[in-house]
Amino acid sequence: MMPRLAPESVAIAERVMDRCDELGAISGSPDLLERVHLSPEHRRANDLVATWMEEAGLATWQDAAGNQCGRLEGAEPGLPALLIGSHLDTVRDAGRYDGMLGVLLAIEVAARIARRDVALPFALEVVGFTDEEGTRFGNALLGSRALAGGFDPAWWDLSDRDGLSLREAFVDFGLDPARIHGAARPPDSLVGYLEAHIEQGPYLEDADRALGVVSSIAGARRFELTMTGVAGHAGGTPYDRRRDALVGASDLVVEIESVGRAAGVIATVGRLQAFPGGINVIPGRVEFSLDLRAEFDRDRDHALAEIRRRAHEIAERRGLRFESREIYRADATPCAPWLREAIASGIRRTGDEEPMILWSRAGHDGMAVSAVTDIAMLFVRCGKGGISHHPDETVEMRDVAFALDAFEDAVSAVAERVQAEPERLGAA
Ligand SMILES: [Zn+2]
Repeated sequence: MMPRLAPESVAIAERVMDRCDELGAISGSPDLLERVHLSPEHRRANDLVATWMEEAGLATWQDAAGNQCGRLEGAEPGLPALLIGSHLDTVRDAGRYDGMLGVLLAIEVAARIARRDVALPFALEVVGFTDEEGTRFGNALLGSRALAGGFDPAWWDLSDRDGLSLREAFVDFGLDPARIHGAARPPDSLVGYLEAHIEQGPYLEDADRALGVVSSIAGARRFELTMTGVAGHAGGTPYDRRRDALVGASDLVVEIESVGRAAGVIATVGRLQAFPGGINVIPGRVEFSLDLRAEFDRDRDHALAEIRRRAHEIAERRGLRFESREIYRADATPCAPWLREAIASGIRRTGDEEPMILWSRAGHDGMAVSAVTDIAMLFVRCGKGGISHHPDETVEMRDVAFALDAFEDAVSAVAERVQAEPERLGAA
């Protein structure tokens, strides 16, 4: 396998990299990259991206939720749209490629398609979503959930660290909360959603692949766990009379890791606190967290059942009481097989005959967009073990060039499929 790159693709990849640097300089902080929802930097990034969209031949607007959009009409005006894009907001102290790379690749793909002699059988819309990360108001995917018609009015009262509500910030930004539903796209106006994104993990790098097909975006289940025993004097209580909640919880933390490893599920205890918390007191109660993620909900739920079984066994053996309370649940979002195939065929065109398939351990806008249309994702290798949400985030320019070619061919593959099966336009 010796993939080939056209010099033109390399030149465009260079421009994409330069634009990632330019966007990466639009920050709310002088020392690090942080660009949050409804900030002055959100406005500047949208404006800059809009000029690039216009250069590519797209008609642009900012939607009622603050997402930056650009549209290229298809064979006739007003056809349903294939959405392509990613997000423009960042975490605090972010890298320059998470989200931004996908938006910039989508613009270049649209620019190439705009120059073709034959128009697509659908419109192509590039979206730069706002607030995928939830950095400012704590609730992620606000832009994509608004687009998918899933904006919850309860979110208006969320507040940022200065106590400003989402509603106030929305008005300050120049948007009208009463018109948020204008951002929602009817399902029959959409063909699907394709997103290119850096992998944010080491799997492509370890396999020596530039690109990968995403099978599903993992959902997570999160729990608050409690192990209860009896507090007592550390000096005066012999071992055989102790009901030490922390030793029981520790046993369970080790078991959680071993269940996760055996089941191919990611299980993490990220927080643990012992009470009453005295240096000379046997812990009577421990509160700890559990985050579970997997490619398939079935595997995740089997692992959970096994963790619970072992927890009760440990509690029984040590004279403790175990309780768990679910605090969050999002099921996995499978990528649509027909769009996955389009992504795979795009990757094959770059010379990688058997594209690697992997699941996304991180959340993405596609989770929200899947409520209104089919979704699929293309992953791009990122270096240094896949480090992300960190200024050291990297991608290779060659990989960006491969991603550009693969993504353009994926859009062509979707067009062929729609021509063969016109009902996919929602017109049937
Ligand atoms: Zn992202």
